Amino acid sequence: ISSAELTGEFLKRVKTLNPEYNAFITINEEVSLAQARIADGMIASGQASPLTGIPIAQKDIFCAKGWLTTCGSKMLSNFISPYDAGVIERFNQIGAVNIGKTNMDEFAMGSSNETSFYGPVRNPWDVLAVPGGSSGGAACAVAARMTPAATGTDTGGSIRQPAALCGISGIKPTYGLVSRYGMIAFASSLDQGGPMAKSAEDLAMLLNVMVGFDARDSTSLQRESEDYARHLEKPLAGLRIGLPKEYFAKGMSRDVECAVEEALEEYRRQGAETVEISLPNSRLAIPVYYVLAPAEASSNLSRFDGVRYGYRTKSYRDLGDMYRKSRAEGFGTEVKRRILVGTYVLSHGYYDAYYIKAQKLRRLIAQDFSEAFKVCDVIMGPTSPTVAFDLGERSSDPIQMYLSDIYTSGVNLAGLPGMSIPVGFGSKNRPVGLHIIGNYFNEAQMLNVAHQYQ
Ligand code: GLN
Repeated sequence: ISSAELTGEFLKRVKTLNPEYNAFITINEEVSLAQARIADGMIASGQASPLTGIPIAQKDIFCAKGWLTTCGSKMLSNFISPYDAGVIERFNQIGAVNIGKTNMDEFAMGSSNETSFYGPVRNPWDVLAVPGGSSGGAACAVAARMTPAATGTDTGGSIRQPAALCGISGIKPTYGLVSRYGMIAFASSLDQGGPMAKSAEDLAMLLNVMVGFDARDSTSLQRESEDYARHLEKPLAGLRIGLPKEYFAKGMSRDVECAVEEALEEYRRQGAETVEISLPNSRLAIPVYYVLAPAEASSNLSRFDGVRYGYRTKSYRDLGDMYRKSRAEGFGTEVKRRILVGTYVLSHGYYDAYYIKAQKLRRLIAQDFSEAFKVCDVIMGPTSPTVAFDLGERSSDPIQMYLSDIYTSGVNLAGLPGMSIPVGFGSKNRPVGLHIIGNYFNEAQMLNVAHQYQ
């Protein structure tokens, strides 16, 4: 089958299903098919690599030249990117096909995809449920087989939580491995791009394309390139799995716990041993995250002023009025809440009490993980405390929504890699994800652990 045929088939599926699921903000059939024909040319002339000609859905946070790039916001509802993000460039270089831009929470702030200016996404397993967020469109598109793979970004859980809620696999790599150039910034010290797909094997191939040094991202890491698929087939005998006692204490719903326990049983059958570990500061992850992420967001989002690009209000008296109205009209409620909180914790008199304190606690959270990795190879637990919740169920209660990331956000604070794989179904037959946390740069081992289960 040619890439043009393959792309055509997936586009057909997108056109049939998207009106109901709302997973894509933009599709551009002609552009995708033209890319597919170029890929077919590469294949014919022997320049193919494993993902040449494969359709990839791109989260609408990645700038893609000539494509509308909205970040889920009214603020960028008219923004056609004049350049490619580092990640997009890497996919273009090997001849992958951009099959469309996926829906997401506005500026990646959310856990349910309900803050998107473009409306909520539905969970393909149950259209009454949310897909998770912020990469909800990506997770939905992969789960509903509208695309074989997608990109996501993860600041506090946005790849792993929607992967869990939609029954697919997703990995957030070690901070610094995937370029943030052209990836619209939310909280720069936490943001990391990564792949979402059906299996760990697919994730390995996607990581092989996505990971690499980029001089245009000041926190990009320069490392020798590796093949993330090289350990997939390794047997797990002797693997030490750390189970944080704090994660298995309370908070997790019973159905999620059952599915996770069954998955752990499977690992024990394969010869892995489980050891109890402790992450004593893990209860601080959410409060620390919700000081630091808004602080960084308030700074990053100051660039959206209606002057050079993006939304500008229709009528205004003077420059100040133009800024105020453009931002008041262009940003949604959750984004405004974050800007206010962020500005507050960074302001004179509160900076030490909140921002500096949170930075110190961030270090303690990272140290907990370092201690734990002295006695185990990977850490496991649930990705999300519950299965997918109903649309609207948590949208009026920010605290309840924030708790969706109780197991995932500590990993971002520490800069560690984390992934989620599907391990069965909980209540209402909604998917459950197993969270696998690895030590820095141990992606290949995590993918091995995931692959042996799948
Ligand atoms: N749900 C978290 C938030 O709202 C994390 C989002 C993310 O990882 N981008 O900030």
